[in-house]
Amino acid sequence: MVGAACAYELAAAGFEVIVVERYAVATGASWAAPGLVGPLVEAMSGKPTAALARVALPTTEALIQRAEADTGLVAGFVRTGALHVAEAAAEEAAFRAWLSTAPPGLELEWLDDAALREAEPHLGAFRGALYCAAESQVYPADYTRVLLAAAVRHGASVHEGRGVLGLTHRAGTVTGVLTAEGVEEGDHMVIAAGAWSGGIALPDGSRLPVRPLRGARLALAPAAPANRHIVYAEHGDLGPKPNGEVWVGATEEDAGFLPGVTATDVADLAQVARTLVPSLAAARFLEARSGYRPTTPDYVPLIGSAAPGLTVATGHWRKGVMFAAITGRLVRQSIAGETPEVDLAPFSPHRFIAS
Ligand SMILES: Cc1cc2nc3c(=O)[nH]c(=O)nc-3n(C[C@H](O)[C@H](O)[C@H](O)COP(=O)(O)OP(=O)(O)OC[C@H]3O[C@@H](n4cnc5c(N)ncnc54)[C@H](O)[C@@H]3O)c2cc1C
Repeated sequence: MVGAACAYELAAAGFEVIVVERYAVATGASWAAPGLVGPLVEAMSGKPTAALARVALPTTEALIQRAEADTGLVAGFVRTGALHVAEAAAEEAAFRAWLSTAPPGLELEWLDDAALREAEPHLGAFRGALYCAAESQVYPADYTRVLLAAAVRHGASVHEGRGVLGLTHRAGTVTGVLTAEGVEEGDHMVIAAGAWSGGIALPDGSRLPVRPLRGARLALAPAAPANRHIVYAEHGDLGPKPNGEVWVGATEEDAGFLPGVTATDVADLAQVARTLVPSLAAARFLEARSGYRPTTPDYVPLIGSAAPGLTVATGHWRKGVMFAAITGRLVRQSIAGETPEVDLAPFSPHRFIAS
């Protein structure tokens, strides 16, 4: 998804773009994720990513509108609104404090237990919830496909089943990528290979410090009325999809590239579902997916120049759906020689690799 956003932004700006994908489009983490675009918690985190979170929602919505208009396809962006439920008094106090300190545009309201029951009658028992009317979601695999189709409309070419084996470079400047089919040359390369980004050696032989943090999610078909809003709780979340399904996220496990879905994944996520909305205990199980969140040592993405001719856009951890659009825009601005609208210094890969 991150690579697709970069490709679309660059192609629409007039760059000649070639996308090289090892397997098929939308088969990585962007296939597994529930696709929640919920910037509130990140915007209040005090971390460098707060700057991305503040612009994530309007940037995502605008990019999707453009891509859908360019292609006639849909990414399933819906402004469902989200309830951040409070289980403990300390949580309630923290959420109430955010009402006056959160960035504008998120449309926050505190709902006490009675108001919460009215808004979401099938929810379990909670002290209350911070309601964020602006928070949204997408179908992440569709979003990825729409972005790439839009890039193609602007002249990009996409080569699936073609893995990058390495970079070619001359005197420290990256000049192309090596694949089994040969070398693709260009003025600028972008590494957006998700959790596998560290597999591509940089010109000095070093590697990006990106590791996989495995996660799983379920899709359920409710047997009785469930939730209408996104629900975030400490141990998981529920995304009610436009087609009536409820997607339950998400486990997180430092298990390398452990494939597939385990019995524990399913049990843990089923527990999340029925704790948040008890009627989901009777929901029909539809599917479970797992993927690998691309994760850096400080959990902050790598966005920016890594070497002459080379930009990286990876390491988005739990936030890659939410930050794909703004990352694509920042990468385009950076490659075009413009001043990026968000300061890229905190995201520089040079905090881990030599300059
Ligand atoms: C269970 C789960 C729940 C999540 N929930 C959310 C959420 O609600 N909201 C949110 O914002 N984020 C969420 N995330 C995180 C989000 O999914 C990721 O941050 C995001 O998808 C990363 O996108 P990406 O494009 O960097 O990586 P990917 O989607 O993994 O794409 C990387 C692509 O690179 C390709 N590739 C790898 N190596 C090579 C190579 N050598 N040559 C060519 N191609 C290569 C892969 O085949 C893959 O297609 C979740 C993740 C998981 C797993």
